[in-house]
Amino acid sequence: MENSIKIIMSERGKELVVVSSHKYRFIRKRKDELLKWICYNKSCYASILTDVKKTQVIKVIGEHKHEAITSQNIDRQVLRENCKRKASDSISTRPSKIIRKKLLTNVGTDIVHKDISSVRKAMYMARRKNVPIYPKSFDEAIDKIWEMQNDDIFKFNNKKFIHIPMNKSFICITTEDNLNFMSSCTEYFSDGTFQFAPNFFMQMYTVHCFKNGFYLPVIFIFLKDKFKQTYIEMWKFIKELYLQHTCWQRCTHFRTQS
Ligand SMILES: [Zn+2]
Repeated sequence: MENSIKIIMSERGKELVVVSSHKYRFIRKRKDELLKWICYNKSCYASILTDVKKTQVIKVIGEHKHEAITSQNIDRQVLRENCKRKASDSISTRPSKIIRKKLLTNVGTDIVHKDISSVRKAMYMARRKNVPIYPKSFDEAIDKIWEMQNDDIFKFNNKKFIHIPMNKSFICITTEDNLNFMSSCTEYFSDGTFQFAPNFFMQMYTVHCFKNGFYLPVIFIFLKDKFKQTYIEMWKFIKELYLQHTCWQRCTHFRTQS
């Protein structure tokens, strides 16, 4: 048990082995097929040899001149790397949900609240790597989103939710499910707010549906001005989008009725 091997991932996504509470990074495969690993502590030269499958320690070379790492430290690293990977893979899942799931499945119980904060921060940084740098103008912002609107990370349940008209004059955020939900409602309310628009946009316009006593937001639009022409274009676009996405459902209704 003392020399059992645990494999974890480093911050850069490389394999590390943990043996007797010391972390080792991979150096090379020797001619005799054994793998050489050196202590993760840069000022320490202790190393180990393992078999090629990384299941047993064959030899320990040298001694560590520092303290061993705690199991809490290892648990935190395992949790952080697992959460980072998940955060990049599924961009729309809430960080707290990912952390909760990982805590329930694959780490020990030595994690404390402070560790969770650092894990959350690491997840945020990992996600930041997938998004472009902050735009400096309206054109730059909309061009970038235009380029990325069909990327996998900008999909929810594998479906696109960013919609932009050909003349790139605004951004519309909605899903096919929302539009279908809209078709089941009869009362709609819409309004723009000038308080919460993102940089370079003048207002956020929202369309709500009224259902069972609740107002539910189904479409969000970011507009750059408040001209009459902009509103006309916006409503034409919403209508087109609605018809495109709810066509299948209406066709089925039509067939079942005929
Ligand atoms: Zn060492």
